Amino acid sequence: MAMAAAPALKHWRTTLERVEKFVSPLYFTDCNLRGRLFGDSCPVAALSSFLTPERLPYQEAVQQDFRPAQVGDSFGPTWWTCWFRVELTIPEAWVGQEVHLRWESDGEGLVWRDGEPVQGLTKEGEKTSYVLTDRLGEGDPRSMTLYVEVACNGLLGAGKGTMIAAPDPEKMFQVSRAELAVFHQDVHKLLVDLELLLGMAKGLGEDNQRSFQALYTANQIVNVCDPAQPETFPVAQALASKFFGQRGGESQHTIHAMGHCHIDTAWLWPFKETVRKCARSWVTAVQLMEQNPEFIFVCSQAQQLEWVKSHYPGLHAQLQEFACRGQFVPVGGTWVEMDGNLPSGEAMVRQFLQGQNFFLQEFGKMCSEFWLPDTFGYSAQLPQIMRSCGIRHFLTQKLSWNLVNSFPGLDGSRVLAHFPPGDSYGMQGSVEEVLKTVTKNQDKGRTNHSAFLFGFGDGGGGPTQTMVDRLKRLRNTDGLPRVQLSSPGQLFSALESDSGQLCTWVGELFLELHNGTYTTHAQIKKGNRECERILHDVELLSSLALARSAHFLYPAAQLQDLWRLLLLNQFHDVVTGSCIQLVAEEAMCHYEDIRSHGNTLLSAAAAALCAGEPGPKGLLIVNTLPWKRTEVLALPRPGGAHSLALVTVPSMGYAPAPAPTSLQPLLPQQPVFVVQETDGSVTLDNGIIRVRLDPTGCLTSLVLVASGREAIAEGTVGNQFVLFDDVPLYWDAWDVMDYHLETRKPVLGQAGTLAVGTEGGVRGSAWFLLQISANSRLSQEVVLDVGCPYVRFHTEVHWHEAHKFLKVEFPARVRSPQATYEVQFGHLQRPTHYNTSWDWARFEVWAHRWMDLSEHGFGLALLNDSKYGASVRGSVLSLSLLRAPKAPDATADMGRHEFTYALMPHEGSFQDAGVIRAAYSVNFPLLALPTPGPAPAAAWSAFSVSSPAVVLETVKQAETSPQGRTLVLRLYEAHGSHVDCWLHTSLPVQEAVLCDLLERRDPAGHLPLRDARLKLTFSPFQVRSLLLVLQPPPN
Ligand SMILES: [Zn+2]
Repeated sequence: MAMAAAPALKHWRTTLERVEKFVSPLYFTDCNLRGRLFGDSCPVAALSSFLTPERLPYQEAVQQDFRPAQVGDSFGPTWWTCWFRVELTIPEAWVGQEVHLRWESDGEGLVWRDGEPVQGLTKEGEKTSYVLTDRLGEGDPRSMTLYVEVACNGLLGAGKGTMIAAPDPEKMFQVSRAELAVFHQDVHKLLVDLELLLGMAKGLGEDNQRSFQALYTANQIVNVCDPAQPETFPVAQALASKFFGQRGGESQHTIHAMGHCHIDTAWLWPFKETVRKCARSWVTAVQLMEQNPEFIFVCSQAQQLEWVKSHYPGLHAQLQEFACRGQFVPVGGTWVEMDGNLPSGEAMVRQFLQGQNFFLQEFGKMCSEFWLPDTFGYSAQLPQIMRSCGIRHFLTQKLSWNLVNSFPGLDGSRVLAHFPPGDSYGMQGSVEEVLKTVTKNQDKGRTNHSAFLFGFGDGGGGPTQTMVDRLKRLRNTDGLPRVQLSSPGQLFSALESDSGQLCTWVGELFLELHNGTYTTHAQIKKGNRECERILHDVELLSSLALARSAHFLYPAAQLQDLWRLLLLNQFHDVVTGSCIQLVAEEAMCHYEDIRSHGNTLLSAAAAALCAGEPGPKGLLIVNTLPWKRTEVLALPRPGGAHSLALVTVPSMGYAPAPAPTSLQPLLPQQPVFVVQETDGSVTLDNGIIRVRLDPTGCLTSLVLVASGREAIAEGTVGNQFVLFDDVPLYWDAWDVMDYHLETRKPVLGQAGTLAVGTEGGVRGSAWFLLQISANSRLSQEVVLDVGCPYVRFHTEVHWHEAHKFLKVEFPARVRSPQATYEVQFGHLQRPTHYNTSWDWARFEVWAHRWMDLSEHGFGLALLNDSKYGASVRGSVLSLSLLRAPKAPDATADMGRHEFTYALMPHEGSFQDAGVIRAAYSVNFPLLALPTPGPAPAAAWSAFSVSSPAVVLETVKQAETSPQGRTLVLRLYEAHGSHVDCWLHTSLPVQEAVLCDLLERRDPAGHLPLRDARLKLTFSPFQVRSLLLVLQPPPN
């Protein structure tokens, strides 16, 4: 020891680099420690392979014809699968040693042993060896056959050139190593120690004495450790243990390290590959749980667990077992980690309803925290929805603000939110990340706990044993925070005890990034909106049929399947449009399924409502909204023709179709007048509003007839299409940058293209064509109906652009510092100016069905049937229509689009003027459903609500209800006010009781029912659910 202890002058940089070279996988591996990680090796006995374009189950794959293969072979192309049969015999001389199969190939591998998946093998996920035995015993079998299923895609897909580029369909893959080797556990442990010491030396910096202690300890280890002589290792290990055993003080920050694996349910790879990603990632996690009893793995997204349950039942059973032990912790409570902006309020509720019920059924309990590390925004209604779904805690990551805040929503509900300060959900357990977690904690002095999610993510992969080893070593070491392998429950109870110190955030958490995802892939957005509507209508009509007909069977199972498809598409890389072409195509198939099955279910429910008398086929006009509507509807007539009719249908009910010959009494309503002037301009007037279009289709005037008030700003035109250059910095499908606003170019039409369409009466319209560019064009029909307070713009676009953004603008004769946008179950205000950086950052925002700009006494609302991107700057309302990003889907949004927006000027507030109802009407057209027999002769209403502020959003069968005769009603307050109201029903209700969003009875929530009505009280934007137990069927 005297020699080694001789003090030497140490130069910081050379000492550091000396240690680095000692552990380097690149340099000096002939003599350094890393070079000794593996000892003797030998090739596998035989390797053969079978290549297939399919994703086959194991049993089927192993029956196939395997051909001899060797290391160096290529296979592919992209999205194919190569199955390898690996026959191996461990040399007898290796008795007593730890033996690994070392496997290196491109693509993502999964090892199968005795018919069960046992471990993922992915170079990118640092998993290149599979432990055959941690100690080969004398009598152990030394020969076995394994299978390695290699998917021809990387952890992050197969982008051509860059990660988010469209996949390269021709990519080939190679196996570069397949051998047996002796693994030296003692070398591995020393390597972990030395890397951590290096991390502390570098991370703590040269003005920190602990940094020097770490460096000198590492240097001393290099001095005493001879890689060729394992007998020198214990001395080195003792030096490391002494160092890491030096404890920190009581005030140390505590890091709650949880194993995690963020798997995008579809993104740069198709849905079906995600099924396998789950298996590869989670069997590896199971292995780590077996090896490390203190290791906890948190796992979200019920859909992925459901996939594993049906494709890998053995793995699912293991996960259930580890869940019982508390090592596998299901989190999130949702079906998938959905986008936080675009899904409707009801769809968000269903994420939790489907998710929580699945977790309860499969793992015996519901989740108590919402888990959304990766999303593109956070609705202000999330806290209320979470709380009513049994969730009080929220963990997310995407916001670049790393803070710990209470996060109260639109209605004042509060949940405890945590943003892991390390700014990543894919940590590796390095000192650098641990230090960053402490320094970036925005609530220093308020709370001394934070989360640390480790494991490869996005494309799956998850934690490795090395990461776990690092974190275990850092349990309590002076100079670093305490590190605890922990669970969300432990983290949140620690945070909870500090919560008196935490601050509160009111309103939405707006993500100042990825604002292009409100618009990208317009067909997906349209499918989302349309399918939300279809499922709403099917549930309502099926509920009414259930109440009215003894023989009707509520299609609960089909509806669950269709909802799950819709919820799946609301994943944060699907509905947002940030996925590859393959995924977009699959998403469109899901929507097609919902449309076709949904329409079949609608017909079945309509038939049940009319059942009884035989006779000629009839037509039932159905209103699925909770207020009486009088609208113009195109009715199918014999011979495939249609005729327009003005029909009145009661609230959530039906009316018989008017006879084709009956004249429509228009009075007291004024018919629509259509006049084309000699200059080519057209005026549409229904006595409520007067619309004037110039000869190119621009809106030169929009007047509220009763007051004579003009809604279009002086000297401007509305319905002005504008084109922007749209080149973000990197994230093409995701981001639209503020500078795009500087490239605004109005699309100018040609005079003389405007023509009269429908000539007036119940409907008047004008239409025109517009050349957007050399390659793109649009046509539009501007429609005004009798009695209708808004004018609609039916638009068809043929879109063939690259990196252009199409919007339509309406400069309003209204001035207000803020505009209002619809969100889930309510609305919120955002500024119309760019005073501060916070205001400026919201240059492109999201909204659901409407937005409104109002000053005292007057306003202008812009409604839409399938758009989500919007903005109001100054007095200009702007709706985002189409983008043309090229990555990750080079074909995104190319082709034909159809959508409708509508403009509604109004007096008074938008609430009193009925803007919200108008937006519902645009989205929920009256239905004309054919019936097998005669339609009922009289109109009928199932439900109505006395207050215009309260929307009865959903009527459905309760998830669990005896004999199926319980309905769930969901209502919300939409005006932002305290309201008492009456709910009226004509259904045979036996009992009414309040429940939460998961349909659990509120023990104190019994509602007295008098004269077929019951009283409800709401606070602003409150969502309420109730159970209605129906009387037994009539016969
Ligand atoms: Zn993600």
